[in-house]
Amino acid sequence: MGYYDQHMHTHFSPDSAESFENYLEQTEGLLVTTEHLDFHDAYNGGADTVLDYAAYSEKIDALNAIHDGRIRRGIEVGYTPESHAQIMSYLEGKTFDVILLSVHQNGRYDYLQPIIDEMDPKAVMREYFGLCTEAVHKLDGANVFSHFDYGIRRLPVTLVDLREFEPHLKQLLNAILAKEMALELNTRSMYEYQNADLYRYLIGLYIEMGGTRFSIGSDAHSIHKYRYHFDDAIALLREFGVTGLTQFKDRIAYIEPI
Ligand SMILES: [Zn+2]
Ligand SMILES: [Zn+2]
Repeated sequence: MGYYDQHMHTHFSPDSAESFENYLEQTEGLLVTTEHLDFHDAYNGGADTVLDYAAYSEKIDALNAIHDGRIRRGIEVGYTPESHAQIMSYLEGKTFDVILLSVHQNGRYDYLQPIIDEMDPKAVMREYFGLCTEAVHKLDGANVFSHFDYGIRRLPVTLVDLREFEPHLKQLLNAILAKEMALELNTRSMYEYQNADLYRYLIGLYIEMGGTRFSIGSDAHSIHKYRYHFDDAIALLREFGVTGLTQFKDRIAYIEPI
């Protein structure tokens, strides 16, 4: 079983306190962590959330020297159009095995903040899916599109609601296909936020459009969510006839069978 959890955070992300050492104890295989990069982070009072790349690399190099090189480097880029230039300049000259692309906020608030509850859900969906498509179009070099439902986690969105946005979702998936990115099954979204039926629908749409690249990530911020509901997500992919996951080393895609 060579596939691993392709979305995890350690204390190198401000919303996690977990250590590499604890994750290493969970498996004898490979690990990757995907730490946050969110400029003007609404969730962080508007401050920049910037991965300390030097410290991150140093820690991984030190652990890899005694753990057979089991740790890979990753980053989760939270995109806003306003931060495009800062993101590009941050990534310049840095080495990652995988770059996740996410939309967490619209430049004013994060989609998990309570202000969302007072808004018209359809207006939020329109804005959020538009920002997702723009992010994929504009940010070159990302490998995985993460948690497509992040912007609607707080909303009471049903499958019927989501289907109304099929044209928007097709635009997003077209952009993902054009960039040869993988589509993430975010297992906390699916089984903690209970959006598995929304994922099932999106997976079907993506496959119908020719999509083949899937990534599974728990979005763990502690070992308690490491490989969260992986068996369920894999069973779902198998139902669709999917036989492998797309993983990245040095940002080159390869398939691990499931
Ligand atoms: Zn995220
Ligand atoms: Zn994350």
